[in-house]
Amino acid sequence: MTASRLQLSSAVSRLGTESAFEVVNRVLALEKQGQNIVKLHIGAPDFRTPEFIVEAGRKALADGFHGYTPAKGLPQVREVVADYCKRFHGGDVHPDQVVIVPGGKPTMFYAMLLFGEPGAEIIHPNPGFPIYESAIRWTGATPVPLELKEERGFAFSADELLSKITPKTRLIIVNSPANPTGGVTPKVEMDKLVAGLEKHPHVAIMSDEIYSRLLYDGGQHVSILSYPSIADRAILLDGWSKTYAMTGWRMGFGVWPRQLVDHAERIQINCNSCTTAAAQIAGMEALRGPQDAVDAMRRAFESRRKVIVEELNKIPGFRCVMPKGAFYAFPNTSGTGIPSRELERKLLVEAKVSCLSGTSFGALGEGYLRFSYANSEEQIREGLRRVRECLATVVR
Ligand code: PLP
Repeated sequence: MTASRLQLSSAVSRLGTESAFEVVNRVLALEKQGQNIVKLHIGAPDFRTPEFIVEAGRKALADGFHGYTPAKGLPQVREVVADYCKRFHGGDVHPDQVVIVPGGKPTMFYAMLLFGEPGAEIIHPNPGFPIYESAIRWTGATPVPLELKEERGFAFSADELLSKITPKTRLIIVNSPANPTGGVTPKVEMDKLVAGLEKHPHVAIMSDEIYSRLLYDGGQHVSILSYPSIADRAILLDGWSKTYAMTGWRMGFGVWPRQLVDHAERIQINCNSCTTAAAQIAGMEALRGPQDAVDAMRRAFESRRKVIVEELNKIPGFRCVMPKGAFYAFPNTSGTGIPSRELERKLLVEAKVSCLSGTSFGALGEGYLRFSYANSEEQIREGLRRVRECLATVVR
């Protein structure tokens, strides 16, 4: 047999990853050896999908939703999504602008494909969801990090963001509530950003609002869809994964400006054809059915949030601000003197607690760890007790 000599595209070497998936594998391997790991790395709600949604999916399969759907999604599902956007995002959305996709990620990737190429710049939050930077690099565009700072509760500064715009900027990405920090951007900053964009008509904005139903302390979500002045260049990314505990269903949607929606549809045709038909029906029922399960999950996260922050602040060398949304705490761990990646590994191996290095979310995440509170209060307390014990002898 002749040894193969494959020539991969250079783009492949630029693709990053989401290291949460690698930690999942490491945790599974340790569990296979019989070790007991407290899992605080997970980016998925620890609840089951509400039963009426599961039942809708079951019924859709029994009713014969087995085939392709239109690429943008079933018309009745897109109508319900448009109505949901009016109710929860305050936006006047036509069903034609909606593209149902397999999860939150495709909208992100499609936006990068639409705007990214060598010579283009795309501004993204850092620390931020790692796929933003990965996908930007893949297209050959230059990622321009916007630092999210602890002293601002990890909300972005509109002035800083606007100051990074150049004639080469094609797209800016915002994410509130944010992964990995739990930061929420106040309305005044969004207002300022949108007003500032008036001067930059060449720049599109993608707003990742996948955690928009997980806000605490009575916070109100501010959606990009509520700003008509930029409606012709604003892309909304949302989905079912976090709100309805449906990460494995792979259900998301994008709301696209009319001038972009046909392009998004064409990319969808090229790579997915459409989203699973029965999952779309289940997703439709989720949006138009009772929302009490969403509220109950939100309340559970809100009370765990207080526990995790309190416990994190007891750990030597840790300091944690109160997150305002999502289900992550992002403590500053620089007081331990241990680099983040090393600390992530140490805690997994020695304390048997999984979490993620801040650097999994960009270089500016050094000095931080991400802990998810998508786990029971009991497990959170136990996990952080182990961390405290593990670091007690190392950090004074
Ligand atoms: N956007 C953010 C900010 C996320 O944290 C995630 C998932 O963790 C996604 C998008 C992707 O969601 P999905 O799993 O539905 O693709």
